[in-house]
Amino acid sequence: MKKLTILGSTGSIGVSTLEIVAAHRDKFSVVALTAGNNLELLKQQIEEFSPQLVAVLTEDSAKKLGQLLTGKKPEILFGVPGLIAAATASDTSMVVAAIVGAAGLVPTAAAIKAGKDVALANKETLVTAGRLIMALVKEMGVKLYPVDSEHSAVFQSLQGHRSEDVRRIILTASGGPFLNFPLERLAQVSVKDALAHPNWSMGQKITIDSASMMNKGLEVIEARWLFDMPAERISVNIHPQSIIHSMVEYVDGCVMAQLGVPDMKAPIAYALTYPGRVPTGVKPLDLTTLSGLTFFNPDHGRFPALKLAYRALDDGESMPAVMNAANEVAVEAFLRGKISFPAIAATIEKTMDAHQPHSLDSIEAVLHADRWGREKGRELLGINLA
Ligand code: NAD
Ligand code: MG
Repeated sequence: MKKLTILGSTGSIGVSTLEIVAAHRDKFSVVALTAGNNLELLKQQIEEFSPQLVAVLTEDSAKKLGQLLTGKKPEILFGVPGLIAAATASDTSMVVAAIVGAAGLVPTAAAIKAGKDVALANKETLVTAGRLIMALVKEMGVKLYPVDSEHSAVFQSLQGHRSEDVRRIILTASGGPFLNFPLERLAQVSVKDALAHPNWSMGQKITIDSASMMNKGLEVIEARWLFDMPAERISVNIHPQSIIHSMVEYVDGCVMAQLGVPDMKAPIAYALTYPGRVPTGVKPLDLTTLSGLTFFNPDHGRFPALKLAYRALDDGESMPAVMNAANEVAVEAFLRGKISFPAIAATIEKTMDAHQPHSLDSIEAVLHADRWGREKGRELLGINLA
């Protein structure tokens, strides 16, 4: 029996994770859940999965949740200490890190420090603190399983092979809703247009990141750390059908790929049950219905954010954390209708231009760089998002 803490249980990944748990009660139980503002959904999850512990954002939410619940109540905590308590609960054997954004870093790091295996959806943990996190994973001897579909595909394509035989990793990208959109009209797109992802149903922030391709940039950085692969050996191919989830090319010219219908339940389940597999309810792939799989190189003029991520990796040290912070601020501003879509990448670039990269020797230092990037991003935008 795997005993789970799910950080971010009310989000897109959290909900899909609990669907897998519900389908395999003999394999999984839930020790702790954490959520942001969706107390109604958290209440339903508590009633269905009976966690010992839950954590919410604020003391006020903790009180409200206590009032909503009837019957046996879990311990209810709040704030960062609540997230850490959930991530490190003594009964937990695996933590599913599914909070969105850099807010996921501290509880994920706490889980690793407490010796928990981690199923990692929160890519921002590796984007902001990859070197430190991978060192911690090694030191603690824990397992870090990718949930991100591309990284799960790479991980699956590496099984049974030697890492020294890898020539390069090829991450696929759908290209999002603006792949063929007239460039001169990008400044006029609405939030609704940007949230209309052609293939994947996901949380709002990652959906905007997919439209700008910053998501692929974050994934290049994630892959750099997860697979210890230099950036020049990580390629990105646009593959609009989202059927091949990523590939590994070996020195002999052979390429291993993982295919499937785009549904996050497959990579989530693999992270939970590795090296085994369980039924997920994901629709089988019917190759005969696919009219053709296409691949081409990304247009960096259309998607400047992708290049910014390679630049951040090249600058190294604190730059990826600053880039990520500026992206979070800019995406939030876009979602609130305060800036245009192209202003997202422009803000990130200006924030990076203003930053002098410095070394990061602790999670505290990463949080400091994150705060710096947020403040600079807000200052450049000239808006107050508080
Ligand atoms: P989401 O917005 O749907 O859910 C986020 C969860 O985190 C919610 O439970 C929310 O309440 C909680 N949360 C948000 N801000 C928080 C904060 N400051 N403190 C504590 N909790 C907070 O996001 P999602 O789409 O499920 O994505 C989660 C993570 O997984 C992201 O890092 C994303 O990049 C990654 N990911 C998601 C998908 C997907 O299909 N959704 C695919 C690959 C990777
Ligand atoms: Mg992905």
